[in-house]
Amino acid sequence: MTEKSKIGVGVRRGLGLRCPHCGEGRLFGRYLKVSDQCEVCGADNTIYPCDDAPPYLTLFMVGHFIIPFMFWMDKAWEPALWVMFAVWLPLITVITLVTLPYMKGLVVGFAWATGVTRDSARQ
Ligand SMILES: [Zn+2]
Repeated sequence: MTEKSKIGVGVRRGLGLRCPHCGEGRLFGRYLKVSDQCEVCGADNTIYPCDDAPPYLTLFMVGHFIIPFMFWMDKAWEPALWVMFAVWLPLITVITLVTLPYMKGLVVGFAWATGVTRDSARQ
């Protein structure tokens, strides 16, 4: 497997919330808690660092997809401020919470493909 295709495989498996090693087992035991051991292949996926990358990617994506619609709605209909808050705050909250695990999966899959572990990141 070439380095480039391995990155594609890792990112695809991570976006599918699957173990990057085998692509079968679930990556998360709970909402954002990476499983200590893959239920299928037994790999420890907690060795891959994520740190601030998943929230950063989530904010970047949600912001770039949602903010233009907010501005459009504000210009097109000129709704009251409470309407803007009532519509966008829950929507942004839900979209952010739904997107976050996928971004964390993407980062774990990328770290798996590139061989970055918590130990190698410290050196
Ligand atoms: Zn696995």
